[in-house]
Amino acid sequence: MHRWSMLFVVSLLAGCATTAPVRQPQGQTPELPLEIHWVRNSAEYRAVLEQTYRLATEVLERRAAGREPGTWAVAIDADETLIGNSLQSKERALDSAGSWESVWDEWVERRAAPALPGAQRFLSRVQELGGRIAVVTNRRDRHCVQTAENLEQVGIPFDVILCRGETRDKQPRWSSVEDGTARADLPALEIVMWVGDNIHDFPDLGQDLRFADPDAFADFGDMFFILPNPLYGSWEDNPGD
Ligand SMILES: [Mg+2]
Repeated sequence: MHRWSMLFVVSLLAGCATTAPVRQPQGQTPELPLEIHWVRNSAEYRAVLEQTYRLATEVLERRAAGREPGTWAVAIDADETLIGNSLQSKERALDSAGSWESVWDEWVERRAAPALPGAQRFLSRVQELGGRIAVVTNRRDRHCVQTAENLEQVGIPFDVILCRGETRDKQPRWSSVEDGTARADLPALEIVMWVGDNIHDFPDLGQDLRFADPDAFADFGDMFFILPNPLYGSWEDNPGD
């Protein structure tokens, strides 16, 4: 029997010997966790991003009608919203050498995060409609220049980028956009839409939302648009059910 055929039979037999769920993606690097495989290699991830950005665009077109150009903005997160870091997740999964901090520093320096599907087209439409774009990210201030350059290199337009500063809480940065203090050449802007992948990318929301009544989610699909991120997030600290 050919060596590969033999391997196939052996793996089939091994599959019969256990009832445990198989989490390893078939045909992929064996050590790659399933969530990384999903983000990097599934049609579903691509579809949900395209779908979300298309719906956000449709809502925004209605909301922009009747608003004076240059008076309003979209507040949008960066990581796993505009740009994807799954390559870094993959590299870390396959080689865990080095501290998380040093590995992340090196990744940010590479400016290698690609634009996510739908993001560039959505933001171009924001600009066409007369909106401003405020990228509000919890990347650290010392990474802000590299992050801006990464965004520019992959064609993501924006008017201002506000990094973490003293606090992870994004409310003071959204407020600075709304009261016109985010940057000297930007007027006060009404934020008409928030886009992100973390529940804290949206005003006044947190992980307790998972216990709330359906009505508490009414802003999603309207003022708020959320994208999936199974790689990491504030949900990681939630007690398991
Ligand atoms: Mg994010």
